[in-house]
Amino acid sequence: MKITKKTPLLGAHMSISGGVKNALTAGESVGCTAIQIFTANNRQWSLKPIQNEAVEEFIKQKKLSPIQIVVSHGSYLINLGSPNKAVIEKSIRALEAELMRCNQLCIPYTVIHPGASLKTDETECLNRIAKNISLVLKNNTGKCMILLENTAGQGSNLGYKFEHLAHIRKNISPKDRVGICFDTCHAFAAGYDFRTPENYKAMWKKFDEIIGLNHLKALHINDSKKECGSRVDRHEHIGKGLIGIVAFHQIMNDSKFLNIPKILETPKEKDLHDDIKNLAMLKKLIK
Ligand code: MN
Ligand code: MN
Ligand code: ZN
Repeated sequence: MKITKKTPLLGAHMSISGGVKNALTAGESVGCTAIQIFTANNRQWSLKPIQNEAVEEFIKQKKLSPIQIVVSHGSYLINLGSPNKAVIEKSIRALEAELMRCNQLCIPYTVIHPGASLKTDETECLNRIAKNISLVLKNNTGKCMILLENTAGQGSNLGYKFEHLAHIRKNISPKDRVGICFDTCHAFAAGYDFRTPENYKAMWKKFDEIIGLNHLKALHINDSKKECGSRVDRHEHIGKGLIGIVAFHQIMNDSKFLNIPKILETPKEKDLHDDIKNLAMLKKLIK
């Protein structure tokens, strides 16, 4: 399947409940060409690999699927910037296991939140994150890239400024397997206002200058329940939040993002009607 403006790389986060291939089936049923999954329970320190049979089923189905790319999201427990040695140790193990599962499933990217400083010095925390990611990458020979996600800056979470992401990436070695995932809700909550075409353009110029657009590998498409600069992370349905439809119109028609997977993390029930609505809303914006 060829990705064109009319068939963008677009989809949503899907559940792997009942087996990892079920995420593909769910994504296909609502017309996704890209999906995101948790390869394990996102609220546990899962170290287990995926069973061979499930891997084979997933790879087989993915080959025949209109879904062109599957992205993983790491466990929410991972904090590579923690000042606590035991937490760092567990975070490193969990990220190694995540990369191993991604490599099993031929998943090219895993998204992680950079880390939280827990009231310690921010620069030292950014340096810890870079050091720990370097350690993980040195011990893992697979192809899966780690994508640092920008955050809303809630609590002591770092990564709410482009400068944070640039600092971390700069201090990682080897850095060829480190990219960026940009979350619209997080950026807005962190204080980036891209609601007008002028501001939208200015923000991406800044992103390019500070981080480099070539490092952007995935987009999380979420509206925001909370105001710009609130530093509160509350996702909202597209067009129902405070970011508004103009910014999403810009993103959906931005030629530099044609080949970047755009993934919804908007609120949803067990059935997929919310995803169907949000996907339709985004497709309607394409000119
Ligand atoms: Mn995230
Ligand atoms: Mn996100
Ligand atoms: Zn969020």
